[in-house]
Amino acid sequence: MARFTLHVADIEAKGRRDYHFAVPAEWLAEALADTELRPATGEPGELSVSAKKLGDDVYLDGHLRAAVRLPCARCGEDMTLAIDLPLQQFLSPRPDTPSPMPEELELTPEDLDRDYYAGESIELDALVREQILLEVPMRPAHEGGCDPEVEKILASSSESPKKESPFAALLSLKDQAKKGE
Ligand SMILES: [Zn+2]
Repeated sequence: MARFTLHVADIEAKGRRDYHFAVPAEWLAEALADTELRPATGEPGELSVSAKKLGDDVYLDGHLRAAVRLPCARCGEDMTLAIDLPLQQFLSPRPDTPSPMPEELELTPEDLDRDYYAGESIELDALVREQILLEVPMRPAHEGGCDPEVEKILASSSESPKKESPFAALLSLKDQAKKGE
């Protein structure tokens, strides 16, 4: 069952409705079970959403805060990644054409500007999950550097004369290109 559910009738009743959800570790653990991410210990995250009815459309303006743990790409030790980001979403009533795949009802990041809702409730679980995954950098690394002991090992291995840094290789390519002009 979805944890973050908005009810269209509630939003309609006053034209606007504010929601505040806790984002507990259990939800994060389940939603992120097939990823490298795990919930960080400590305070549960928060999802706040202000939902407005604009004609038939629903406009969501919200904020997501949560913390996850994942391995650092430099040292391999666990690190905490703080998620703190705004969420905005336009939802239109889903057209009546039958959808070939029910998964299409989920909110996806590919179409953040406009998505669809159907029926009386709007479930944000898939959207929240995708937003967290999108926040993970390509190479997550400890902010402010890794463990000093690990830094020493990393530094000594990069001093190895055999290995040319990619940046140096790029510079020499540039020099060659200049000579060719
Ligand atoms: Zn690290």
